[in-house]
Amino acid sequence: MIILQYKKPLYNSARIHFTGLIVYFQIGFPQRITLNNMEKMIELVNRNIRVSDLYISNYNYHEGDVETNKVNPLSAELSSAFFDLDKGDDFHENTKKAHKFLLENDVAHKVNFSGNGFHLIVFLKLREYINKKRTLFNFQKWLDNTLHLNSENKLFGDLSRIRRLENTYNFKANRFCINLTSDDLNMALDEIKKLASKPQKNITIYGEKLLDIGNFDRDMMFPNGNSNNGNGFIQPEIYINFGDLKLPICISNALSGKAVKWIDRFYVILYLKQTGLNPYEEYTFLKEKWDKEKRNHHNKWFETDFMHMIRERQIEYAFNRDYLFPNKERLFQEGFCTNEKCTCQEINKLF
Ligand SMILES: [Zn+2]
Repeated sequence: MIILQYKKPLYNSARIHFTGLIVYFQIGFPQRITLNNMEKMIELVNRNIRVSDLYISNYNYHEGDVETNKVNPLSAELSSAFFDLDKGDDFHENTKKAHKFLLENDVAHKVNFSGNGFHLIVFLKLREYINKKRTLFNFQKWLDNTLHLNSENKLFGDLSRIRRLENTYNFKANRFCINLTSDDLNMALDEIKKLASKPQKNITIYGEKLLDIGNFDRDMMFPNGNSNNGNGFIQPEIYINFGDLKLPICISNALSGKAVKWIDRFYVILYLKQTGLNPYEEYTFLKEKWDKEKRNHHNKWFETDFMHMIRERQIEYAFNRDYLFPNKERLFQEGFCTNEKCTCQEINKLF
């Protein structure tokens, strides 16, 4: 086993997330130690690198105490969102998909190989939030749902998250946790594992924009508890007030249309997916719109748009793939949205 001395890797980017206030952070062995000093951290890491797995808090905290070894999670600087991808058969493909999506949108992020799976860290613009935890939860769940990442949902909204520190040894996997370039990530998993037999010198941050997730600072849409990964209607509880959904003209029209075409139903489903609704929530919402309301106007044998949608498994179809709500030109061609003033394109403007 090669274990070198831990040196803080060089970043390709001078992006600074600190606000200049005193910050606290934690390292874990995995029991946590609260620190406010980088030299001390490097010393501790080096003292333990040969004997222990090493973790670092994903956030810096404004409120903490080295003596009592505590930080206040609510004082976290929300400088990034962390995604853990190691579930299922597709975690490598899912990581590549997320990296590609963030590259295309020029969003700052880095990708690490933990030794077994992948860590994706999306860098965020520092700003004020009404509710930081909720915002983080909403954003993580949204990205996971939208790209169908199947990432670990237990950590959504977790302001105390620690993650494996780059260039330290993963004793269970018998290899290092390393940062990856695009080329590294595109290699076969076995090749990446080989690469992880030693630490890497650099950490590459891709993308220029620090993502502003202020949009997600609202009560919505998502039920508490575990998210589902888009495979079915497993959510028993709903906390959504559907009345809070501000829907653009074309979506409202399609919701109240007389007979809604397959493609129109599909666009509505995609739009709602991007607002953050999960399949179960969509099911409930669309039943209200396309079944109950219409049934009132027809006899009970009438086959509603909702029933068509269910028979054609349109919700599953939309959620099990990476479709995004189409652009203006496409919607115009389809005759779905011909109103110049319609706000439906806002949904694609997050990035
Ligand atoms: Zn529209």
